[in-house]
Amino acid sequence: MLLANISHDLKTPITSIKGYVEGIRDGVADTPEKMNRYLDTIHAKAEVIDDMVNNLSTFSKLELSRLTFNFETADINAFVNEFLEDYRLDFEKNNIKLINNISADAAYVKLDREKMSRVFANLADNAVKYKREDNPSLEITTFTRDGGVYVYISDNGIGIEEKELQNVFDGFYRVDGSRSIKGSGLGLGIAKQIVEKHGGKIWLKSDGLGKGTTAVVYLPAAC
Ligand code: ADP
Repeated sequence: MLLANISHDLKTPITSIKGYVEGIRDGVADTPEKMNRYLDTIHAKAEVIDDMVNNLSTFSKLELSRLTFNFETADINAFVNEFLEDYRLDFEKNNIKLINNISADAAYVKLDREKMSRVFANLADNAVKYKREDNPSLEITTFTRDGGVYVYISDNGIGIEEKELQNVFDGFYRVDGSRSIKGSGLGLGIAKQIVEKHGGKIWLKSDGLGKGTTAVVYLPAAC
């Protein structure tokens, strides 16, 4: 099943690249504008393949426990603030209004910075990919409870049906309606494995289709 999915997901952009290259070869792209459009599409499809191969590589290394984690004690609130700063342009470009509810107090956890950045990048990418068209927003909230720190990443996007909330953490799983949006179905699977290696938990909440999605990350406090 996995192999069938990977082959299908890689085949689609490859077929499309071949089609566009043939179009150029046959002279169909006969104006500079058309040529640019064709080249942009080829580049975008190659990026889809690149992303997918990178995700596959990370996912399989995590599954095989071949990724080394370098933990340090760090303030998760400062870390999430820095992350949002790095992503600010991306949110602006997508007209996403950012609401920052990150606690002003320091909250120390054990963190592999590079890996945890991947978790938040995957969650932020999803909030962008599955946003709604009018007034999309993203709210980040953190608070300390239950001997650890909760980070809530809430979008007001397309939402997820309750029956899908668990499935989406399986590798390669994509909710049907997402097929037209680029993605490998690996982002949440990777995020889950990384968060669990930190001794934490991750889950999604949604009030249903069209009602937004909240990703919750819980990390135990550093002792
Ligand atoms: P990908 O986004 O590459 O498909 P993910 O593992 O990141 O893979 O997500 C799995 C599926 O979960 C997505 O295909 C999408 O259907 C659903 N999903 C994830 N995040 C969101 C979100 N913020 N809003 C709506 N659906 C989401």
